Amino acid sequence: MAEFTLDLNDDQKQVRDWLHGFAADVIRPAASEWDEREETPWPVIQEAAKVGIYSLDFYAQQFFDPTGLGIPMAMEELFWGDAGIALSIVGTGLAAVGVLANGTEEQIGTWIPQMYGDANDVKVAAFCSSEPDAGSDVAAMRTRAVYDEATDEWVLDGTKTWATNGGIANVHVVVAVVDAGLGSKGHASFIVPPGTPGLSQGQKFKKHGIRASHTAEVVLEGVRVPGHCLLGGKEKLDERLARARERVKSGGERVKNAAMATFEASRPAVGAMAVGTARAAYEVALDYAKTRSQFGRPIIDNQGIAFQLADMRTQIDAARLLVWRASWMATTGKPFTSAEGSMSKLYASETAKKVTAQAIQILGGNGFTREYPVERMHRDAAIYTIFEGTSEIQRLVIARTLSGMPIR
Ligand SMILES: Cc1cc2nc3c(=O)[nH]c(=O)nc-3n(C[C@H](O)[C@H](O)[C@H](O)COP(=O)(O)OP(=O)(O)OC[C@H]3O[C@@H](n4cnc5c(N)ncnc54)[C@H](O)[C@@H]3O)c2cc1C
Repeated sequence: MAEFTLDLNDDQKQVRDWLHGFAADVIRPAASEWDEREETPWPVIQEAAKVGIYSLDFYAQQFFDPTGLGIPMAMEELFWGDAGIALSIVGTGLAAVGVLANGTEEQIGTWIPQMYGDANDVKVAAFCSSEPDAGSDVAAMRTRAVYDEATDEWVLDGTKTWATNGGIANVHVVVAVVDAGLGSKGHASFIVPPGTPGLSQGQKFKKHGIRASHTAEVVLEGVRVPGHCLLGGKEKLDERLARARERVKSGGERVKNAAMATFEASRPAVGAMAVGTARAAYEVALDYAKTRSQFGRPIIDNQGIAFQLADMRTQIDAARLLVWRASWMATTGKPFTSAEGSMSKLYASETAKKVTAQAIQILGGNGFTREYPVERMHRDAAIYTIFEGTSEIQRLVIARTLSGMPIR
């Protein structure tokens, strides 16, 4: 087990610098164009695939970094480049993690390569959980999966929303209800293979930020998938459901929700994205404050500006430390006894919103225009307090974990 240290080792520094180079040379120059176009930046994803950044191998390497810092470091650098493009590059990873976490070895080997495609023919994948009436309240999910024993198929019906890459994905991972009496314990995840009839894209959303990332509804009408598309397999599902039913019947103690533990481990990655955006805006603001003169001196000569920059940098560093702590805890198997994963996501996402707003203020009129990137960064930053659990939900999780009380 790796000792905790804030010193990156040589391999980590090399990866960080390589990613930073890609973010600076390829992502950042394309950011404004794809934000305006509001389209998936396929050529940039292809570039990322060519150099090996858009691949399962790359994520697996970062994921298995024994210090836990591989993923947060990668996210920070890519999102420093641009949040919308970076999400287009890492969005497939969300679906891939769904398969890695719940799938059999065969499912992992079959479906993950189809999620990424190859450098000459890149593909993306989507993870579809949220629904119009089931956002924060996942247990309110309505999409049903019914087993057809005669054909060994599952039949999926329902409407998913807010799916990153929804409808344009080669492979969709869909969470559906298999036993409505068990709340979120009665959910299961399914692969919907490429070209399956009955799956279609609904509305594509026009968004406030991360506009290069495709977000859409996914409509499922009598979608039939083979039995082997149930992640983890039927035997495991039946055992899990039987245990949950037994617990409900006996009115027994609630088991610790496995999904919550997974979220604690995955939320720091979103925190790291927020740190990347915040750092990008801070750097632009710092440069500007040193070069823009008013009243015969650089505006940073005023404490009113300099102190803002001092606070911005302090909060960004604090956010990164929370993110790194939580990532290290996840990798080294430390229990999240104070919801440290949620803490990191809460603090980093709120910091990104605040810091990007301050950056606009420091750039004055220029900050308010699309001639400078901080306006886009501020719009992008707004997503971090919403997806992967809103700030309010993070606070609920933290408060419940700390107090043991069912705070509403
Ligand atoms: C750009 C984008 C990409 C996304 N990508 C994906 C994806 O790939 N896959 C996927 O499945 N989902 C995705 N989502 C969905 C995202 O996770 C949800 O939007 C999020 O969980 C919030 O759900 P909601 O939008 O329904 O808000 P709601 O749950 O309706 O919340 C509305 C407001 O009420 C507050 N609220 C709700 N309950 C409580 C409570 N108990 N206490 C206090 N306040 C509360 C919330 O904090 C929020 O401020 C994406 C969303 C966006 C915007």
